[in-house]
Amino acid sequence: MHSLFVAGSGRKLLKIGDNFPGLFLVGSNKRESDLEEWDYNQNGADWTETCSTGLEQSPINIQISSAKPASSGAHIKFGTAEGLIVYNTGHSIQAEWKVLTESNTTIPTNDMWGAKAEGIDRVAIEPLQFHIHSTCEHIVNGEGCQIELHLVSVATNSTGVPIPKQCQSSPCYAVFGVKYDFSSDPLVGSEDSGIALLADNAPSKVGSDAATYVETPETFDLDALFPDDKTYINYQGSLTAPPCSEGVNWHMFTAPRRQISIAQYENLQSKLASALVTRACQTFEDERRTVNFGCQVPYGSRNNNRGIKPLNDRTIYKAEAIVMGNEPGVALNATDSSPVSQSLAPSSSSSSGNVMMHYLHPVAVAAMGGVMAALALMT
Ligand SMILES: [Zn+2]
Repeated sequence: MHSLFVAGSGRKLLKIGDNFPGLFLVGSNKRESDLEEWDYNQNGADWTETCSTGLEQSPINIQISSAKPASSGAHIKFGTAEGLIVYNTGHSIQAEWKVLTESNTTIPTNDMWGAKAEGIDRVAIEPLQFHIHSTCEHIVNGEGCQIELHLVSVATNSTGVPIPKQCQSSPCYAVFGVKYDFSSDPLVGSEDSGIALLADNAPSKVGSDAATYVETPETFDLDALFPDDKTYINYQGSLTAPPCSEGVNWHMFTAPRRQISIAQYENLQSKLASALVTRACQTFEDERRTVNFGCQVPYGSRNNNRGIKPLNDRTIYKAEAIVMGNEPGVALNATDSSPVSQSLAPSSSSSSGNVMMHYLHPVAVAAMGGVMAALALMT
């Protein structure tokens, strides 16, 4: 039996602190004033404060060969999103949802968020939104790519499983990233449902008032965003956009999701170029390698990606995510299902414990004194 936790009739996006970029206020076209100050004109090189002083910043150049094996991996089932909404944040195109069902993901805390001292090895997380960057932000083995999608999640205690104290007072984020390329061979490239959702519904105007409330599809399988090969790189990083807050638990899948068709790529790039708070169009001598977005932009142009940041003293880990079924602690594949080491049985005996996550994550609710809220942040 599935139980839906449906948010109230009014969807409100409220600011819950100073550390959350990209928030919109429903009912107005106002953007958070401090967010209007930044753009991608220098791909982040001109961003200040933590963005320039932080020592655990994202994205990074990932050398897979230097990654250490992780002692455990993520257990993923991101769930089904319903009531889809696509925003132009001014810095990306972003999908959110009103309801999330069959979400059952936990991640190792990896010594983050003060979890180790509290004896918390693993936390449940809840997806909040996904958005794209083009070109890619993370470099893997020296190679870039055309599109990088980020699924932003927050640690949640909605399952009754404890989360670190730190995550109760301010949200602790985990991001799952995946890379895309396009193929100029029409027989190779194919349509991707996640890219299509964003590109086909991207508003040209910034803000919640211009958001697209998607009728088709009615639901979206968030797990379909990710590759069959569940190998990923884990490290401690930051939001990749101002204010570049650190303490973000990063998971970058190492396999490209797929090669999308060049037509879909061009559609996405076109929508992105018109959606972004843009720089002036440039001219390029070789128009054969450009796309016409009203002006000429070269393939692989850096539209909304931050440049890579130093690894510094951080360790990167290699792990493989286990695909979960609906029951907490039980993997989808029977051969993988026992034992999935975790102590995450919900404290509630509710038969619908597997679908209790929803878009109003309790961390934010708690932080806001119970006011319903959702986040629309960029990472
Ligand atoms: Zn991002």
